[in-house]
Amino acid sequence: MVTAVEKHEVTKPVLINLGMVSLFFVSVSLVLGWFMGKWFNRRLIDPLLSLKEDVDRIVKGETSGSGTAPSYENNEIGFIAKQIYSLTERELYRRNQQLKTLNEELERISVTDKLTGLFNRHKMDDELEKAFYLWKRYNRPFCLLMVDIDNFKGVNDTYGHQVGDAVLREFAEILISSLRHSDVASRWGGEEFLILCPETRKHEALILAERIRSKVSERNFVANLKITVSIGVCEVKDHNTIDALLSEADNNLYKAKQLGKNKVVDS
Ligand code: GH3
Ligand code: MG
Ligand code: MG
Repeated sequence: MVTAVEKHEVTKPVLINLGMVSLFFVSVSLVLGWFMGKWFNRRLIDPLLSLKEDVDRIVKGETSGSGTAPSYENNEIGFIAKQIYSLTERELYRRNQQLKTLNEELERISVTDKLTGLFNRHKMDDELEKAFYLWKRYNRPFCLLMVDIDNFKGVNDTYGHQVGDAVLREFAEILISSLRHSDVASRWGGEEFLILCPETRKHEALILAERIRSKVSERNFVANLKITVSIGVCEVKDHNTIDALLSEADNNLYKAKQLGKNKVVDS
């Protein structure tokens, strides 16, 4: 017996089965893909994004620069992220320290006289302003000593500029060893030095000036040289300006020179 069957009656169930199987595989693939994507994100993308934000924060200076690394996933990517984080942080910390040291050095150079290592005039101007303010505002006394090396031109002319420089350096050492920590010594001009003594009355400043004068006159300088200094001393009183005070110290120095040098004069 032969039965005639329509073609679609045979192919339809096959196509339906094929469709079902395909749908099943597509659905399984989609679900698997979604889970894998999730897993991939958590293990790889999230730690990288979080690392990017952390490094950004370090670079912008929003962390202390010496803290511990944030926690990352406990896997290879997390490990690499942690290493990159601490490398960045350590490098930034090192750069900051370098910058700090450079700034300190720059600050030191900007206030120091190169030859003697004493403060320069620019720094002394600031110190004078501070002392003058404290005097005006709180009546805190201070004294100035204007010191000038006698006949210094003769030293250069006879022994040369190099020896002159060495004498200036040696003289600066005498100054430093004679002063209190609170005193401020500066190179005011070529062979002229200004000393500011805060919280000091004239009778104390005169003792200091005399100590400097006698130490210098007793010292055998480089090349067995003998030198002397003249010193003008003054205490802040009714001066209206710093310039008035400096003029008084200068006048006293001038008088010391007039009196034959190697002298201390006050007003
Ligand atoms: P007085 O006793 O009247 O002060 O005489 P003086 O010779 O000390 O003063 P004068 O102003 O005639 O000469 C100062 C000299 O100081 C001249 C200058 O060459 C010298 N001098 C200034 N600065 C320096 C320096 O940095 N190194 C050396 N070696 N000499 C300097
Ligand atoms: Mg001189
Ligand atoms: Mg001079």
